[in-house]
Amino acid sequence: MTERLVVVGGDAAGMSAAAQARRLRGDALEVVAFERGRYVSYSACGIPYWVGGDVGSADELVARTPEEHRRRGIDMRVCTEVEEIDLQRGEVRARDRDGGRTYALSFDQLVVATGAEPVRPRLPGVDAQGIFGVQTLDDGEALIADLSRLAAASEGPRRAVVVGCGYIGVEMAEALMRHGLQVTLVDQADEPMTTLDPDIGRLVHQAMEQMGCEVLTGVEVDGFEADGEGRVRSVAAGGRTLPADLVVLGLGVRPNTALAGAAGLPLGDSGGLRTDLRMAVVGHGNVWAAGDCVETFDRVSKSWVHVPLGTHANKQGRVAGINIGGGYATFPGVVRTAISKVCDLEIARTGLRESDARRVGFRYETVTIESSTRAGYFPGTAPMTVKMLAEHGSGRLLGVQIVGQEGAAKRIDACAVALWNGMTVEEMTGLDLAYAPPFSPVWDPVLIAARKAADQLRGG
Ligand SMILES: Cc1cc2nc3c(=O)[nH]c(=O)nc-3n(C[C@H](O)[C@H](O)[C@H](O)COP(=O)(O)OP(=O)(O)OC[C@H]3O[C@@H](n4cnc5c(N)ncnc54)[C@H](O)[C@@H]3O)c2cc1C
Repeated sequence: MTERLVVVGGDAAGMSAAAQARRLRGDALEVVAFERGRYVSYSACGIPYWVGGDVGSADELVARTPEEHRRRGIDMRVCTEVEEIDLQRGEVRARDRDGGRTYALSFDQLVVATGAEPVRPRLPGVDAQGIFGVQTLDDGEALIADLSRLAAASEGPRRAVVVGCGYIGVEMAEALMRHGLQVTLVDQADEPMTTLDPDIGRLVHQAMEQMGCEVLTGVEVDGFEADGEGRVRSVAAGGRTLPADLVVLGLGVRPNTALAGAAGLPLGDSGGLRTDLRMAVVGHGNVWAAGDCVETFDRVSKSWVHVPLGTHANKQGRVAGINIGGGYATFPGVVRTAISKVCDLEIARTGLRESDARRVGFRYETVTIESSTRAGYFPGTAPMTVKMLAEHGSGRLLGVQIVGQEGAAKRIDACAVALWNGMTVEEMTGLDLAYAPPFSPVWDPVLIAARKAADQLRGG
C-alpha cells in the first residue's frame, strides 16, 4: 500500500528529506511538500552576496525549482502554509495563500522543517518603510529594489544602519558598502560577532573600522524615526540619532516551532524540536524534524544547542529522508564550526568560546598567536590570528577561533576534525598539514598555536 509523507517547509532540510525518501522508496511513497513562500530549495546563505553584487539573480540561488521537484515525483505545493498539525488524526491543515482555499491532508509520515524566524524587536517605528530583514529571497528582492530606488533618487552620501553585528549583520554591512553606502553597525554586545570571544571580536571591530564602517558596540537601539511618508530616516541608539536612508536587521533567529509546539511536539530549552539521532521527534515514531527548527547535540559541551546553519539543515534532512526511506542513518551532532567574511577579513570558529567552556565547567588554558597566511617572504602574505582553548589536565582541544586575510579561515576545518576526534593539542603539534610558501609558513599557524598551547599546559 502507498504511504504518504507530508513535508512542512520547502527549503534545505525539508527538501533534502523529501528527495532522499522519494529516491529510496519510489512510487511506494507519495511525497507532498508544503512551502508557504514562492521559492523552494533556495540558498539564504547567498543573499548577502546577491545584494552585494557577486551573484546576479535570485534564480542563481535556487538549487531546484518547484517544477524540478515535481519532475522527480514530489508533489510540491508552493504558496501554501500549513496552519495546523493534528497528530491524533494524522493530518495537516493547509491554506493555499493565493486561492484562499483551506484543506486537510492525512499523512503516514511527517517531516517538520519549518526553519527559523528572524528576531524582530518590538521597538517604536520598526515597521517603517526601508527597514529590512534578510531571511528569504523575497527579503533580498525587496532590499535590492530599495537600493536601486535610493541610487536613482538621492543625491549626496547615502547611509545605512545595520542593527546586529552577528555574521549576517557583518556580511550585510559589506554588501551595502559595495553599493557605496556609508554603513553604521550597531550592537548591544561589547564586540561584534558574539560567536567569538570578545578579544577576537575586537579584531573584527578594528578591521571593520579600517574598512570605513562605523561600528557602535555596547549600544542599544531605542527605536526608528520615520518621515511624513512613513519612510525610515534615522535610528535612535544610545542617546544618538543615526541618520539612515535604509536599515537592515540582523538580530539573529529563533526556531520557528509555534506550529509544532501547538501540536504538542516536544521542544527543548532553546525552543527547538527535540529529536533522536535518526531525526525522529522524541516520542513520535512517524514524525521527523530537521534544520533550523531543531536542537542539536554539541559534541564538545555535551549539551543541546540551537545552531541554525545550512550545513546542518542539509545533513539532518538527508538523515531523516534515509530513515523514512527504509534505510538507517544518524546525525552525530556538531562541534559548532562556522565561517564568514567581511571584505578581505576572514573569520572562523569551531568548538567552545571561553564563556561556553566556563558555563559547562571546563578548566582550560588559552593561547593566541599571530602568524601569516603564507611564508613571510611570499608575495601576498598577510597577518592572521589563531586563538586556541585546551582543557587543563587532559590537554584536549576545546575550541579554535581564527581571524585573518585570504586563506586564513578555511584552516578551521583541520581544527574541527581534530576537535571531532578528541585530539589533544600535543597530538595536534605533529599533524601532517600541507606546506608550500604560497599557502603557509613552514609552521602552519594552527601548528604554532597547538605547540604554544601544549607548552603552556606543560607549564613551559
Ligand atoms: C542571510 C543569511 C545568510 C546565511 N549564511 C549561512 C552560511 O554562510 N552558512 C550556513 O551554514 N548557513 C547560513 N545561513 C543559514 C541557513 O540559510 C539556514 O540554516 C538554512 O536555510 C536552514 O534550512 P531549513 O530548511 O532548516 O530552514 P529554512 O531555510 O528557514 O526553510 C524553512 C522553510 O519553511 C517554510 N515554512 C515555515 N513554516 C511553514 C509552514 N507553516 N507552512 C509551509 N511552509 C513553512 C519557510 O517559508 C521556509 O522556506 C544563512 C541564513 C541567512 C538568512
